[in-house]
Amino acid sequence: MLRVEANRRDFLRWLATAGAGLAAAGVAPAVFAQEAAAAGTGVVVVTGATLIDGTDGPSRPDSAVVLVGDRIAWVGPAADVPSCGSARVIDGRGRYLVPGLWDMHAHGIDYEDLWPPLFLANGVTGIREMQGYDENRVTRDKIARGELLGPRVVLASAILDGPVSLLGPPVTKVADAAQARAAVRTAVAQRSDFVKVYFYLPEDAFAAIADECRRHGLPFAGHWPYRLRVLDAAKAGQRSFEHLFGLPIATSSRRDEFLARLDATPFDPKAPRDFFNLARELDRQAAQAYDPAAAAQHFAGLNAYGSRLSPTFTVNRVISRPADAYAHDPRLKYVSQDIRDLWADRLPLFTPVTATQAAQQEAYFEAQLRLVGEAHRAGVGILGGTDCQNPYVFPGFSLHDELGWLVEAGLSPRRALQSVTRDAAAFLGRAHTAGTIAPGKDADLVLLDADPLADIGAVRRVDTVVTAGRVLGRAALDRLLADAEAAASRPVTAANARSVRLPVHGCC
Ligand SMILES: [Zn+2]
Ligand SMILES: [Zn+2]
Repeated sequence: MLRVEANRRDFLRWLATAGAGLAAAGVAPAVFAQEAAAAGTGVVVVTGATLIDGTDGPSRPDSAVVLVGDRIAWVGPAADVPSCGSARVIDGRGRYLVPGLWDMHAHGIDYEDLWPPLFLANGVTGIREMQGYDENRVTRDKIARGELLGPRVVLASAILDGPVSLLGPPVTKVADAAQARAAVRTAVAQRSDFVKVYFYLPEDAFAAIADECRRHGLPFAGHWPYRLRVLDAAKAGQRSFEHLFGLPIATSSRRDEFLARLDATPFDPKAPRDFFNLARELDRQAAQAYDPAAAAQHFAGLNAYGSRLSPTFTVNRVISRPADAYAHDPRLKYVSQDIRDLWADRLPLFTPVTATQAAQQEAYFEAQLRLVGEAHRAGVGILGGTDCQNPYVFPGFSLHDELGWLVEAGLSPRRALQSVTRDAAAFLGRAHTAGTIAPGKDADLVLLDADPLADIGAVRRVDTVVTAGRVLGRAALDRLLADAEAAASRPVTAANARSVRLPVHGCC
């Protein structure tokens, strides 16, 4: 390999002229060179790694990626990069470079001393935060301004639900179309990236949300609104359906029977969980009556409307097992006592108790894996998300678990990885800045010690994370983990108590 020593000016000139890809990305190479000059020491070369760029293209051994400031400036063979004394060089030989990961269903970024470091230490450089409220809007802005180290945050509105709800504050309850429209306008004013819809929305309120979102160009996503058929919600514009609620029923030979039963059941303000529990149980039973014809129709509908499934296997797995199954998870050391207490308190609301129930839930979880495999083979878009902050779902770590479940469900390791990189970015409308490794895109990268396309478990073997151009080597990542652990072990007092806010639908 010919390594040409270049001085900084030569290097930047090379970068400007070599950066043909920049023009394709809509960035003038000369502008990039100016940025590079302004970035001072902010030129980083990751060299020698096998590049897995997030596309369908082959892995490219011995590649180099040049970063300028917070963006990717150049991608190509390592042999083509002149060495420049002033650039920071990261030796990627023997390693695998992938795009930064997105957790597409997360909560609690406002636990600033715990969650942001855990995300980054695990290669999660972006999250879709599924419930907006004052505290996490503040944290989103701090991260965006560079005042707090953390993943990029795509933030939901407040959860919009009907007047009967499983949720307490800060849910926004809307009873009619006028309130629904007002809630969407509030979401716009709060700079929400999307509107989150929930189980018990009345039909007219849901329609008004869809219409008001369309007027404002705001996407909406969330749970199956029980008063609508899933495909009607998809047709109205719902972009994603979380946790697989409603999927077993929609793909079952008992679909019409079960939907009629739900239609005839009111939401009981005195016992709001009853309807949820019934729907969940009917979903479980429906999973035993999978009907390929009903499924084909349902999947075709989701594809026609462009709606994605966000299975959140990680949280579904937790609630499918007895409540004590996770009590000794070693990752609990990163979770403060107040949150752990809440987890232990809430989890039994969902988990099986008797041996029969446990066996039923185990079979149901297996059925969910099969269903997502069928949906994927039918071309339905899948998003990788965890629902972290719910009991025993750990920021960062659990996204690695989720990727394992997606492969278990039948996605190839490449497709699983794309569900948290390329496809996630496309879903979020960020394909031009995120999701793949290409010139002009955000410098969010993860360097792994092993090949995730050979074994998706390699995503756990994080060597280096680059977040918005900032390089966190193994030692820095270990410090983040140690800091989070120290923060989690601090005694919780009245003075430092955080407002512990489970997404408290109790589940997701
Ligand atoms: Zn949810
Ligand atoms: Zn959630």
